[in-house]
Amino acid sequence: MRRTTTVVIGAGHTGLAMSRCLSERGIDHVVLERGEVANSWRTERWDSLRLLTPNWQSRLPGLGYEGDDPDGFRTMPEVIGLIDGYAQAIAAPVQTHTRVTAVRSTDAGYLVRTDRGDWHGRTLVLATGACNVPCVPRLAEAVPASVRTLTPMEYRNPDQLEHGGVLVVGASATGVQLADEIHRSGRPVTLAVGEHIRAPRTYRGRDIQWWMDAAGVLDQRHDEVDDLARARKVPSLQLIGSPARTMLDLNALTESGVRLTGRLAGITAGRLLFSGSLANQCALSDLKLGRLLDTIDRWATEHGLDGQVEAPHRFPPTRVEAAPALSLDLARAGIKTILWATGYRPDHSWLEVPVLDRKGQIRHDGGITGSPGMYLIGMPFLRRRKSALIDGAGDDARDLSEHLVSYLTGRIREEVA
Ligand SMILES: Cc1cc2nc3c(=O)[nH]c(=O)nc-3n(C[C@H](O)[C@H](O)[C@H](O)COP(=O)(O)OP(=O)(O)OC[C@H]3O[C@@H](n4cnc5c(N)ncnc54)[C@H](O)[C@@H]3O)c2cc1C
Repeated sequence: MRRTTTVVIGAGHTGLAMSRCLSERGIDHVVLERGEVANSWRTERWDSLRLLTPNWQSRLPGLGYEGDDPDGFRTMPEVIGLIDGYAQAIAAPVQTHTRVTAVRSTDAGYLVRTDRGDWHGRTLVLATGACNVPCVPRLAEAVPASVRTLTPMEYRNPDQLEHGGVLVVGASATGVQLADEIHRSGRPVTLAVGEHIRAPRTYRGRDIQWWMDAAGVLDQRHDEVDDLARARKVPSLQLIGSPARTMLDLNALTESGVRLTGRLAGITAGRLLFSGSLANQCALSDLKLGRLLDTIDRWATEHGLDGQVEAPHRFPPTRVEAAPALSLDLARAGIKTILWATGYRPDHSWLEVPVLDRKGQIRHDGGITGSPGMYLIGMPFLRRRKSALIDGAGDDARDLSEHLVSYLTGRIREEVA
């Protein structure tokens, strides 16, 4: 068995940010990765995906953006190149093709079993990602065998799909991007819309991510929000990182011919049943967009920016049909494929340390778990609103590595006393 001070599991950007912070603090460690560095971006994303965060907004500890296109959006090969290059630049001690199969606690720390031998670490960092498994609703079981279903992790491009109609379920970033792409391929798309967050690509001449970063929205801390459980479940913004900087909201999709329905509520005898909440969901989303823009406008005025940027304005409300369909016969509507853009969840099924709640999620306080010396990173709103973004890993890794060092120092004092 090999021994080290800290075992980091996962060589995505969060595991690497942690590795860099541990190295800076002189902590001996290893990063165990089941695939290659940036495995999720290599194997689980669709072909046309670009980051929806601008190039400048993928800062990692010791790495800023130095290219000549700060406002552009990286393609997948560029994201893989970024993360790969970072691993090399920081000389991260990554063991690739090493899958962790079990983790147990011991008197001295954690036993980490892998398909390439065991490791022992006094401390442990779980950086295995928030999006390991697509969330597919139970009602998927009622889809007739004649209709193909797939998840965004399986989807690569429209050529994979049969000709004919497509139902995309879910209208957050993934759902709106895939509905748009598939509709453009000539397949009629119906989009089932539940809770969603409408956002413009640009506002008053600047990228929305610039405003949220500058105004401190993304820095909001986990101990500052009223309802943290709710904040951790907020869906991703309806954004696309296209070179044309287009706004991809429901109005844009309706204009291009995508049909909107309410949330998919059931499937029975080959019929899709939709909730009647479409207009309400859209009104709520418009309201939240208005609140975000109010915050931005206030911040711009307080910081003397009003003369330097375009004047404030508001976007027209989301248009919905007066009576959107409440049910659709799959065969009659010609729907051949259902795509579940219904979110993702982490997979910690190999973790044998009692830190999981009833839903199999790790209980933690800003990434500090109830098991001493065990840390979690890369989850939505882990410590800050930006925690699940590439740009959020740095601050979280700095905080958690500081806690880890003080934990180790305390342990050493106890052992010496
Ligand atoms: C579709 C999509 C689009 C996104 N777009 C953006 C964006 O535009 N901008 C942005 O900032 N963020 C974006 N994100 C969010 C975020 O950056 C990603 O979720 C990111 O991949 C999370 O980084 P991570 O390092 O925590 O996890 P991951 O990148 O998933 O890395 C985890 C690593 O752990 C490894 N691993 C998992 N289990 C094991 C095991 N048992 N043993 C060994 N290794 C294991 C995996 O192979 C993987 O390499 C997007 C996410 C998704 C899903």
